[in-house]
Amino acid sequence: MPNITDAKTLKIIAKTLNRWFIENKENWFFRENRTPYKVWISEVALQQTRIQAALSPLKRFFLNFPDINSLADASEDKVLNSFRGLGYYNRARNLRKGAIYIKEKLKGRFPETSKELKQVPSIGDYTAAAISSICFNENIAVLDGNVKRILSRLLFIEDFIETRIFLEKCAKFQAGLFYLAAVHPGDLNEAFMELGQKICLPKNMKCEICPLFSFCKAAQKNKARELPLKGKKKNLKDVNWHIFIIVDKENKVLLQKYESFYFLKNQWAFPSSLFFLPEQNVLNSCRNIACGVMQKNILIENNIIKHSITNHKIKIYPFVTKNETVLCHENSMRVHSSEIENYLASSAMLKTWKIAQKHLTPSEKH
Ligand code: SF4
Repeated sequence: MPNITDAKTLKIIAKTLNRWFIENKENWFFRENRTPYKVWISEVALQQTRIQAALSPLKRFFLNFPDINSLADASEDKVLNSFRGLGYYNRARNLRKGAIYIKEKLKGRFPETSKELKQVPSIGDYTAAAISSICFNENIAVLDGNVKRILSRLLFIEDFIETRIFLEKCAKFQAGLFYLAAVHPGDLNEAFMELGQKICLPKNMKCEICPLFSFCKAAQKNKARELPLKGKKKNLKDVNWHIFIIVDKENKVLLQKYESFYFLKNQWAFPSSLFFLPEQNVLNSCRNIACGVMQKNILIENNIIKHSITNHKIKIYPFVTKNETVLCHENSMRVHSSEIENYLASSAMLKTWKIAQKHLTPSEKH
């Protein structure tokens, strides 16, 4: 087993990994004609969403906002709506803030160093290192979940993954590797990320075809499965979410503007109530609508949708009612059922709408 931190071995590791990347890298559409803007948006989106699931929402986002100016000039509603399927909406808000910052404060000039990049809203250590190494050749390593997992195994780090000592060991190894590697730093970063997505998987790691096998301490000890060491999982909060789809005789559906309501911030959605279990603390987005609906003709019951949002295990109960007329309250409006999807930004609401549509007649859907 070689000492994997000596200069000669570090150079070989960088070369081996780079060769593997060149031969195996995926030609994702967002890697074509790369610009810092494209790298920025795709890295932020991919931090929360699996690549396969992110492809089509990312294409839509780039179609709607092909560059900094189009994103900076767009309304927040439009940005949130285009971001659906790509993770938390706060990220979409911050991307827009970042675009406005670059357009107005930096006169449209995209920052080139990780230090400058970190001044931009939405850009943290990871995204700054990804953009500056991929687009501007800065010799800086990224350290995301994939890379941490690989390094914990490669170096056989038996410290908990989020501890300072773990991070210091990773940083020390990466600094030596990037300093000595005679390869493009962006390629080396992407090689690590792609190795983590395809080979060094959390459970079913494919050590037998891994380019780093002969250097990997955990694989040699047959202990890769035991790493990385993680702390206790946080307890998930149980939440019941009652969502009301109220359709009138013109096939219009009631939507409500949420300024700030737990999972919904500054966006349109169906009226709803949240119940935190077991305390039964209730948050009503619109208590009078909810109470009215409960006494009316409820079309679907026992149709629970499971959903999760950071640290919350959610059961969604959709209620569909058809009423002669529906009165709009403050901050609400009626939207024809054929256009509902253009207004919903929350994936929980979109899931609910999909189920609810099964209980509407064809004319009510269009
Ligand atoms: S040899 Fe196995 S454990 Fe080691 S880096 Fe490769 S896939 Fe991961």
